[in-house]
Amino acid sequence: MRNRKFRLIGGALVIVAVGLLGLRTAYHFEWFPFRNLLVYGSSDVFTHGNPSVKTIALTFDDGPHPNVTPHLLRILRQYQVHATFFVVGEMAARHPEIIRQTMADGHTIGNHTAHHPQLRKMSKEQITAEWQECSQILARITGTAPSFCRPPHGRSNRRIVMSAKSVGLKMVCWSYAPNDMSPVSSAFNITTRILKHARNGDIFLLHDGNQATLDALPDIITGLRKRGFELVTIAEMARE
Ligand SMILES: [Zn+2]
Repeated sequence: MRNRKFRLIGGALVIVAVGLLGLRTAYHFEWFPFRNLLVYGSSDVFTHGNPSVKTIALTFDDGPHPNVTPHLLRILRQYQVHATFFVVGEMAARHPEIIRQTMADGHTIGNHTAHHPQLRKMSKEQITAEWQECSQILARITGTAPSFCRPPHGRSNRRIVMSAKSVGLKMVCWSYAPNDMSPVSSAFNITTRILKHARNGDIFLLHDGNQATLDALPDIITGLRKRGFELVTIAEMARE
């Protein structure tokens, strides 16, 4: 009897431990949607648009890429979609003509740091320097400093959010990531996940420079429109 009781308690402890481990693992994954809300208040991080408005924002991280971004821009132009690009400062500096075209096409350009480092390992001064350097590069190219930023991999903490705020940047994460960078994600997988998930006010994390994402884009756009969603930039969504 006593033995059985111990076995039950032991079993319960194992279940709790596995549950906690699962939560911790999910917390570190990009796709865990409420990760940022666990760290600080929601008002400092924009993760979702107005749930009563039928709009969705497509966001593309990690560009610009000379071989892929022009194709991405062409598709968006063809379908008359405005999206948001969180660009890396040093890459923008190497391809200013792509940044100018992105701007001319009416997309929102956001700050994704100067060198895409692991911000959580850096001091507040170093983090601030990353935001500032990227904003300065973008301001030099476009004449306008960005208003929005996104930390690399969406990994953040209070220090990172506050440093962005101190240099006038509003942090934007996402409500859903279809895991488009996974080597086993095909264009079909990415499209299916997005269309299955799509809700009012969603912000989708996608990546520039990824062939499967590029291939998925026409079906994502037509599929979302068929469901009645309007595709907007983060700047537009923030005003809703
Ligand atoms: Zn990134």
